[in-house]
Amino acid sequence: MKKRIWLSPPHMTGHELKHINDAFASNWIAPVGPNITGFEEDIESFLNHESYAVALNSGTAAIHLALELLNIKAGDEVLCQNKTFIASVNPVIYKGATPIFIDSEKSSWNICPILLEQAIEDRLATTGKTPKAIIVVEIYGMPYNVDEVYRIASKYDIPIIEDSAEAMGSKYKNLHCGTLGNYSIFSFNGNKIITTSGGGALLTRTASQKQEAVYLSTQASDTKGNFEHSRIGFNYRMSNISASIGRGQIKDIDNKIFKRRANFEYYYNALANIKDIEFQIEPANYYSNRWLTCILFKDEETRNNVASHLNNENIETKYSWKPMHIQTVFKNAISYTNGVSEDLYKRGLCLPSGSSLEIEDLNRIINIIKTSI
Ligand SMILES: *Cc1c(COP(=O)(O)O)cnc(C)c1O
Repeated sequence: MKKRIWLSPPHMTGHELKHINDAFASNWIAPVGPNITGFEEDIESFLNHESYAVALNSGTAAIHLALELLNIKAGDEVLCQNKTFIASVNPVIYKGATPIFIDSEKSSWNICPILLEQAIEDRLATTGKTPKAIIVVEIYGMPYNVDEVYRIASKYDIPIIEDSAEAMGSKYKNLHCGTLGNYSIFSFNGNKIITTSGGGALLTRTASQKQEAVYLSTQASDTKGNFEHSRIGFNYRMSNISASIGRGQIKDIDNKIFKRRANFEYYYNALANIKDIEFQIEPANYYSNRWLTCILFKDEETRNNVASHLNNENIETKYSWKPMHIQTVFKNAISYTNGVSEDLYKRGLCLPSGSSLEIEDLNRIINIIKTSI
């Protein structure tokens, strides 16, 4: 069997063990400790101090806390990007709120501003109320249409939760993803651009929001030590060991982004001139970290065929995210669609995109694609 090529495997850089050893030496084997605050400071300086970071045990937990901080309640409507991984939406269900799905625009593959505005108008006409939040996603690292979505959100006074789980290091008009919403989140799951083996961060705009998020993530203890609680909290804090890995990983993030972008370029140069293969192109002023390179084939059959050839050669790929409005769990949900996310799902294949991928791996993948279409 040929060497396995993974879609987006963890990529350790050698700095991680030092921080883990520090944690062991000082016995901070707990969801408290100096590497948690250290990692938060690392994230904040990566974002040029335009956000406050709260280290948590998953990106999903971060979205849940953002909804909590926005005071989303059972029965509230929340507008969600239709094309995403289901983790963007599950916290809306945890709250007992109602997700309403908005399809994508063709350019960024993220939420379509035209549909977004139509949906808000339609909800106003139907329920007499505007939805309580908008969850936008930066698919495969591509920023969303920030100017238009901001214009609409401020027109109707609806807060934005920016799901930057895939977009750490991406930029829109030179502004960091992770700073482009009322709240933002990162994921450090094993497959993301940097990993803590499992973890995430909530990014807030003020220090007091951060303080409230830390309080909620640590069981909402009003006073230290004597078990007074005036609110229901969560056990969502990151472990000091995970934060140790994160501290090592973030040192190398520029290089990881460079490598992922180079992967994209390599695929693009080898395949873009083939008829009926399309790429996710960066619009002007968008800068994607190119977390995953996803390419579109002529049709679903061709995509399936290429995926199975790659699989037979021990190469992992994934279909592009299946939109929420056709998920069994959301079969009764309201959605505003234009066919874009369903088309991207049917024709899209995510190619191995890790920052440890080698040129031989890329060539092996490209050759199989070329011979199987
Ligand atoms: C990975 C991911 C999440 C969830 O992050 P976890 O850390 O795995 O909970 C949320 N949204 C998107 C778009 C993701 O890709």
